[in-house]
Amino acid sequence: MDYRNANDLSGKLAVITGGASGIGLEAARALGQCGAKLELLDFNQDTLDAAAAELSEAGCEVKTALLDVTDPKAVNRVADEVKARSGVADILLNSAGIARLHSAAEISDEDWLKVMDVNVNGTFWVCRAFGGQMVEAGRGSVINMGSMSGSIINRPQFASSYMTSKGAVHQLTKALAVEWAKTGVRVNALAPGYIATEMTLGMRARPELFDVWLDMTPMGRCGEPEEVAALIVFLASPASTYMTGSIVAIDGGYTAL
Ligand code: NDP
Repeated sequence: MDYRNANDLSGKLAVITGGASGIGLEAARALGQCGAKLELLDFNQDTLDAAAAELSEAGCEVKTALLDVTDPKAVNRVADEVKARSGVADILLNSAGIARLHSAAEISDEDWLKVMDVNVNGTFWVCRAFGGQMVEAGRGSVINMGSMSGSIINRPQFASSYMTSKGAVHQLTKALAVEWAKTGVRVNALAPGYIATEMTLGMRARPELFDVWLDMTPMGRCGEPEEVAALIVFLASPASTYMTGSIVAIDGGYTAL
């Protein structure tokens, strides 16, 4: 193992859903800085264009595609298009995700289904389409965005839909890891605690939530997207080739309590 250069991802292709924002965008910066070519897939053309412009300016090779991960036909089509123009992914990061805060009594049928559709179904459709190509190619690293919410119950907010969906992402990750274990494709998930992105912005502005979060996090702060991106680089790199089916906590000590 060339330990010093283990993060050199030159010549690798990284496909990132939710790549125009938050952890996905920071991971694109990190993987691009390590030499990977980037395919960013996201929901909104304006944010995709802004992300691509910034990454190109920083010297990254980047292409984009508009994709709603809840549409399995669109996922399959974009997977074919990406393969035709850029090749088969070496690194697949499933970062597209949404959160809704509702009690069980308050959540609408639509909101419950939407959270499941993006976080669970979307992750599966993308794993099946892009991961399937990786299995055929016999190599690659799939990284799913789970959450500490997949194993603990967040407080004080109620968000049973989100917690249920992230538990499912953890199980999907382990199931695919075992299914693909002998193919050369690894599948792992991150389980972050509270990270300072757009997703948590509104909640961080509410002291009745934020003060409890900080109190329950031994390090007493949120994580930064860069801290999560550094772990994504590790899971994408040759430094982690014996890791598959792992749910890796990165939460400032939250789940150590
Ligand atoms: P962001 O909201 O910053 O990024 C999520 C991205 O996913 C956005 O660009 C969003 O687009 C996109 N997206 C949403 N729905 C779809 C869809 N149907 N198809 C394609 N793209 C979609 O969130 P984070 O970066 O914070 O979160 C990234 C992942 O990490 C999520 O899975 C989240 O659950 C997980 N996570 C986040 C934590 C945190 O504290 N931030 C903690 C633990 C896990 P748009 O903005 O246009 O809607």
